[in-house]
Amino acid sequence: MDELGVRTCIICGEPKTEGIHIVSEFICDACESEMVHTDVQEEKYHFFIHQMKQIWVQKNA
Ligand SMILES: [Zn+2]
Repeated sequence: MDELGVRTCIICGEPKTEGIHIVSEFICDACESEMVHTDVQEEKYHFFIHQMKQIWVQKNA
């Protein structure tokens, strides 16, 4: 986190100011919204889950 409040979204990797924090990591509004509306069967859902797992791996490493 920098002084401007811009954080790098762990999903899209882009710097954003609006979003949510999960386990000290950041997910931008666009990705968070997309996650909510993504069908469980879609490949993208699994990508999100994969990204989320990376958080826990990092925190438990
Ligand atoms: Zn994002």
